[in-house]
Amino acid sequence: METHFTLLQRTLGSYLGLAVGDALGATVEFMTAREIAAIHKIHRNIIGGGWLRLKPGQVTDDTELCLALGKALLRDGLNDTNVIADAYVKWMHGCPVDIGNTCRRGIRRYMLQRTLQADPTPDSAGNGAAMRNLPTVIATLNNESAYERVSLAQAHITHNHPLSDAATLTLGRMTRRLLRGEGISAAHAEAMILVECVPHFRFDPWPGMTSGYIVDTVQTVFDAFFNTDNFEECLIRVVNRGGDTDTTGAIAGQLAGALYGVSSIPERWLRKLDSNVQDTIRGQCDRLLALQNLDQEPSNVFAHSPVIPHPLSTAKTAAI
Ligand SMILES: [Mg+2]
Repeated sequence: METHFTLLQRTLGSYLGLAVGDALGATVEFMTAREIAAIHKIHRNIIGGGWLRLKPGQVTDDTELCLALGKALLRDGLNDTNVIADAYVKWMHGCPVDIGNTCRRGIRRYMLQRTLQADPTPDSAGNGAAMRNLPTVIATLNNESAYERVSLAQAHITHNHPLSDAATLTLGRMTRRLLRGEGISAAHAEAMILVECVPHFRFDPWPGMTSGYIVDTVQTVFDAFFNTDNFEECLIRVVNRGGDTDTTGAIAGQLAGALYGVSSIPERWLRKLDSNVQDTIRGQCDRLLALQNLDQEPSNVFAHSPVIPHPLSTAKTAAI
C-alpha cells in the first residue's frame, strides 16, 4: 500500500520533472542531433538560450499550460470545461514566450465562438494536448471515467484528432500507474496497448523522427524512457535526439519523475529551474491530489458535451 508521502513524492517528481525537461530541452529545440553534438557534445545542463533566448531555468508553453490547467482544475475545471478554456485564454493574453499554431487557433476559436471543441482536422495531430495533461492525471488518480472525460475535454479545446486522443490518454494512464507505484512494467503494458490498437506508435526499433507530430513525440519519449534506468539519463537521451526537445523533454520528465520520484531529479537542474514555477508546482500537487476524494458529479456542461467513444477506452480493437 502506497503511503501518501510516497505518492506525493512521485507526484512532485512527475510535475517538477516535466518542468525540468521543458527547461532543459528548450535550449536545443528544432536542432538536429548532429547540430546539438557539434555545439554541446552532449547537452546536459539547464543553460537557457535556444531560439527563444530563454533565461536559464525558464520554461515554455508545455509547463505554463500545465500550470494553467492545474489552476483551472482547482477551481471548477473538473466540472466545467469553460473554466479550463478561460484559463488557456488568460495564458495566451499573458504573451507567452511560445505558443503552437494549433493551440493558438483553438484558443482563438473559443474566444470568438465560445465552442469547446476544435473541428477535427488532419493537421491537429500535434503534441500540444498530450504535453499539458498531467494535472488531469493527478486530479483524477482513482477515477478512470473522470480522467477520460476531463482529458478529452481539455484536449479538444485545441486538438481534436484520434492520434492525439490516443496518446494523451495513454501517457496519462502510464503516469497514473507510475504514481501509484506499479512500476515500469505497468507503464510498458499501457504503451503496448497503444501500439497494439494504433500501430503508428510502434517505437521499437525507434523510427528516428523527433517532430511535434504526436506519433514522433511519443516514439521518441518511449525510446528514452524504456531504454534508460534513471531520470537523468532518460532526459539527456531524449533531448539530445533534437527536434521538439522541450516537449519530448517535458513528457519524458513527467514519466521518469513519476517512476523515480522527486529525489531522482539532479540537484543542479532543480537549482536552475525557475523558482516561481517550482513554488506553483509544489502548491498545486497536494491540492490536485486532494480533488480525487471529492467524488464530483459531472455537471450539465459535460452531460451535453459529446465525448467521442475512444478505441482505447471501450473498443480496444477499433481501428484509427
Ligand atoms: Mg514548448
